Amino acid sequence: MAYDQTNIFARILRGELPCDTVYEDEHVLAFNDIRPLAPVHVLVIPKGPYTSLDDFTADAGPEVVGHYFKVVGEIARKAGVAETGYRILSNIGGHGHQEVPHLHVHVLGGRPLGRMLP
Ligand code: IMP
Repeated sequence: MAYDQTNIFARILRGELPCDTVYEDEHVLAFNDIRPLAPVHVLVIPKGPYTSLDDFTADAGPEVVGHYFKVVGEIARKAGVAETGYRILSNIGGHGHQEVPHLHVHVLGGRPLGRMLP
């Protein structure tokens, strides 16, 4: 699927819309979810034009993919949820119920999250 330059996270990356940034570097931006489902609910996105983990893992190099997931772990540790445990999830495409077509990993924690399998 071609990357949609008009999606909301692309607009955040271009500085057209604000976000509550918790981390930023050359390749990755992380910000608080606007409708948090847990005390910690951070979205971690690559700055490159990737629709989902599907094209990201197919097209991005191992260093970029590796760095992205290193940052996900760092954010969880910085948010203080590593000790108690947390969940990461990434919705992909239609069956995955992905709403925003720019790759994002949700980092959720700060309370017991319960069992979550379809
Ligand atoms: P998805 O279903 O995995 O695509 O989730 C998209 C997430 O983006 C949802 O949890 C939304 O609450 C969140 N979201 C949508 N717009 C914004 C925004 O402008 N800032 C922060 N989070 C957003």
